Amino acid sequence: MGWLLIVVSLIVLWVASLCKILHTSSSASSKASFLSTGGAPSKKNVLLVIAHPDDESMFFSPTINYLISRGHNLYILCLSIGNADGMGNTRKEELYQACAVLKVPLQQVKVLDHPNLQDGFGQKWDKNLLAKIIGEEVSGHDIGMIITFDNWGVSGHCNHRDVHHGTRKLIQGITERSVEAWELLSTNILRKYSGPVDVWLSILLAMKYTNGITHCLLNEQPLKSFHAMAEHSSQWVWFRKLFVSFSSYTYVNTLRKIDN
Ligand SMILES: [Zn+2]
Repeated sequence: MGWLLIVVSLIVLWVASLCKILHTSSSASSKASFLSTGGAPSKKNVLLVIAHPDDESMFFSPTINYLISRGHNLYILCLSIGNADGMGNTRKEELYQACAVLKVPLQQVKVLDHPNLQDGFGQKWDKNLLAKIIGEEVSGHDIGMIITFDNWGVSGHCNHRDVHHGTRKLIQGITERSVEAWELLSTNILRKYSGPVDVWLSILLAMKYTNGITHCLLNEQPLKSFHAMAEHSSQWVWFRKLFVSFSSYTYVNTLRKIDN
C-alpha cells in the first residue's frame, strides 16, 4: 500500500510538472526576458556551439525551441562528426535530420571534421584552436550571442568541457560588448534524471538572480525534442530513449551568462 502511494504521488508530480511546463510556455505570462527587451522584439543571430552530433537534441532542445519559436536566427556549430564509434558521416547526416525537425535552417548548421578535434574521452581539444574556430563563425555570421556547455559540460565529457574553455577564451579576448556568451548549467545527478520535475527547482533557482544573468527556459515542445533525438538513429538505443524521457534537459535549460 505504501509503495502504491509513492508511485501514484510520483506520477501525479510528473504530470503536474509537465502541465506546468506546457502551461507556462504557452501562456502570455511566460514572456521570459531572455533575449527580449520588453519592447519591440529584437532578433539576434545566435550561435550554439556543441561538441558532437546529438548534443543539440539531448541537452539544448529547450533553448533551441525557445529561440526558433521567437524568430531568432540560430546557427549551430558542431565541432566534431562524433566518430568515436566509426559512424562519422552517418552521424553528420543524422544531425542535419535532427535540425530539420527542430526547424533550424540547414544552411546554418556546420559540422567540422578537424584532425585535432576528434571525438573521444582521451582527446584533448586545444582551447586556442577552438577560440579561433568559434571566433571565425562569430565574425562570419555577425553573431551577437554564443550558447554552449558550462565547465562541467552536463556529463563531464572532456570534449564538452573543452568547448566551454574555448568559448570562454574567445569571449575574454573580445573587447566589444556586442557579443555575449551563455552556458548551459550542469545539474547534479538527482536533478539530471528527474525529468520535468526539475522545472520547479530550476525556476526557483533562476528567480534568485534578478540581475538578468541567469534564465530558465522551459521546453515548449518536449515531444519535438524526442523526435529530433530519434533522428540520430545510430545513437537511438534503449538507454538513450530512457535518458531523453527522464533527463531534465529535455524539459528545461538554465542558462547563465559567462563573464567577459
Ligand atoms: Zn556530446
